[in-house]
Amino acid sequence: MRAALLVANWKMHGTLGEARALATSVRDGIKRPRGVEVVLCPPFTALPAVAEVLAGSPIGLGAQNCHWEVTGAFTGEVSPAMLADLGCRLVIVGHSERRQHFGEIDAQVNLKLRAALAHGLTPLLCVGESADERRQGLTFTVVEGQLRAGLGGVSPDDLGRCIVAYEPVWAIGTGVNATPTQASEVHGYLRGLLSELASKEIAETVRILYGGSVKPDNAGELCREPEIDGALVGGASLQAQAFLGIVRKAAARGGATPKE
Ligand code: PEP
Repeated sequence: MRAALLVANWKMHGTLGEARALATSVRDGIKRPRGVEVVLCPPFTALPAVAEVLAGSPIGLGAQNCHWEVTGAFTGEVSPAMLADLGCRLVIVGHSERRQHFGEIDAQVNLKLRAALAHGLTPLLCVGESADERRQGLTFTVVEGQLRAGLGGVSPDDLGRCIVAYEPVWAIGTGVNATPTQASEVHGYLRGLLSELASKEIAETVRILYGGSVKPDNAGELCREPEIDGALVGGASLQAQAFLGIVRKAAARGGATPKE
C-alpha cells in the first residue's frame, strides 16, 4: 500500500512569527507519524524559518512554486536549486491558482516539473477541471491534457518520482469537496494514464492526492478510498488543530494512528 501523504499549502499566508508558530504546533502534534508522511509548504519568505522549526523532525519542507532556470535575470522568481539549497524536498507545480491568476500554461508547468526533478525535488503536479468543464462533461479530457503535458518528456523512472494531485477547481477554497466517488473515478483514470506513460508497476507506486476543501470531517471518507493516497490541503492547513485532525484521519486509513 502507498503511504498516505498530507501536503499543507499555506498559500500567501503567514508572517515569520505566524509561520514559526504554526510549524511548531504541527511538529509537536506529529512526533512519530505512522503510515503517513507530512510536508509543509509555506510561502518562500518563511522557508528558512520553517526549515529551522522542522529540523530533526519527520515533517518535510516544500515550496508552492518554482521557476525552471537555475539562475538568471528572472525578477521575482525562485529556482529549484535555491529551494533544494533551503532543504525543500517537494515543490508544487501547476496549482490552479497559478494557472488562473498568473496565466501559467501547461508548457511552463512541464518546464518547472522537469527542472524540479533535475534538482532532486519531488514535483507535485496539480490537475483539475473547472465547474464549467465538469458540467460540459470535459473532466477526463481536461485532466488528461494537463497530465500528459505536465509529464511530457519525463522518463518512466522519473515519472515514478512524481506525485499528482487531483484538485477540481470548483472544490478549492469553496467548502464543497468532491465526493469520494467523484474523486476516485478521476484518480483511477489518472492512474491508468500513468500506466500508459510509464508502466503499471511504476504507476502503482505514484501517489495521487486529492485536494479541494479537505477538512477533518471529510478527510476520513476521502482517504479511505483505495485510489486516494492523501491530500493537498489549503485553508484547513492554516489551523494546526484542523490539519492535525486531517493527518490523524489519513493515518487511520492504513490502520495506523500517529503517535502523539
Ligand atoms: C489548495 O490550495 O490546493 C486547496 C486544496 O485549497 P483548499 O483546501 O482551501 O480547498
